[in-house]
Amino acid sequence: MATKTIVTKFGGSSLASAEQFRKVKDILGMDSARRYVVPSAPGKRFPEDTKVTDLLYRCHRKAQAGEDFEEDFDRIRARYGEIRDELGLKAELDAALDKIHRKIAAGADADYCASRGEFLNGMLLADFLGWRFLDAEKVIFFDERGVFDSEKTNVVMMALLADGVPTVVPGFYGSLPDGRVHTFSRGGSDITGAIVSRAVRADAYENWTDVSGFLMADPRIVQNPREISAITYAELRELSYMGASVLHEDAMFPVHKVGIPTIIRNTNNPQHPGTLISQSLPVEPTVPTITGIAGHKNFSVVAIEKAMMNAELGFGRRALQVFEEYGISFEHMPSGIDSISVVVSSEALAPHREEIVRRLADVTQPDVLTIHDNMSIIATVGRGMVSNCGTAARLFSAMSRAGINVRMIDQGSSELSIIVGVDDQDFERTIQAIYAEFVG
Ligand code: ASP
Repeated sequence: MATKTIVTKFGGSSLASAEQFRKVKDILGMDSARRYVVPSAPGKRFPEDTKVTDLLYRCHRKAQAGEDFEEDFDRIRARYGEIRDELGLKAELDAALDKIHRKIAAGADADYCASRGEFLNGMLLADFLGWRFLDAEKVIFFDERGVFDSEKTNVVMMALLADGVPTVVPGFYGSLPDGRVHTFSRGGSDITGAIVSRAVRADAYENWTDVSGFLMADPRIVQNPREISAITYAELRELSYMGASVLHEDAMFPVHKVGIPTIIRNTNNPQHPGTLISQSLPVEPTVPTITGIAGHKNFSVVAIEKAMMNAELGFGRRALQVFEEYGISFEHMPSGIDSISVVVSSEALAPHREEIVRRLADVTQPDVLTIHDNMSIIATVGRGMVSNCGTAARLFSAMSRAGINVRMIDQGSSELSIIVGVDDQDFERTIQAIYAEFVG
């Protein structure tokens, strides 16, 4: 019987208390296809609360500094103890906590300490659901440099989960070849969820959080922005690169690669359909022209001008090499016949600014070399742009009506986004003007 399979990942706030655990159980009970759960560590219950992961990092820091970490550890004990007691669970929590305490005191590394947040939450959740618990260190592998080993992981995990038994796999960590625990970067349970989805060939990867999906723009800039009901992985990649964040960036690859859709859902509002992220979506006439807007402040544009640059072979390479030498990656490189501009983060440029100018002058022998700071980059993303003419015209008219000076334009060859550079002081107004033009 080939039934559907859904992998669910629940974020920290979705599993922050016994009440949240109950919601999670209800959600799982609503669809028998939901057979795999990847939990985060308990997150914030209210805005001033502290995430268990942060408390664990703090315990580690204090232990390393030879300071007392009892107070923080007691808070961790209390968080889990409350969940266990309120739900009447029998999991061997105290013994597990004592062992973790001993290891922290004995100098365990930061990754081990941080990973225990997910480990303990997974243990409690498995007990509460009556599901199997599979420790992530047995199924998620990193190489000796700490790089995630996707193929080994996939083979081992596939074999261990092949029996279809409902299973809890804690998020965020795995193990190194020598058996030590290693974590992904912060927010990495999203990645674990995607990895499990790939291994069990899920029909969907549901990522349950505390918002009902992605918004078209940052709500701190645009009032009540609309929700995005569907978005492609490529669009999302552009938006998250530009700063929109709900999902860990690396969580897209395992599922994108094998064509599994991700759905962002809200644990506190399970009726809401959320945002569907898939590999390809039909570009129907009803698709809105733009899917979302995101951006960043604080870029610098290094502009190099030189007559007859176009005839000089290797000019661009020599210029870019200078940035590479200083470990700076460039964001954009709009160019003209006799000029190129390299857009880089001002923060990355700052420590080597003078040397870079000297090196650039040396290798390119420019007529003029200028740096323009305080620039923002804003990406307007939409798969609907391809089929709607006049999008760029509308975007620039809206900006011009708002009296915003466009300092840079870059439209990717995929026609998936239009990127504009404006002065930092125009950042918010630009996003508002573009949103108003396309969304209303
Ligand atoms: N608990 C970890 C963090 O706070 C990982 C996660 O929640 O995804 O970053």
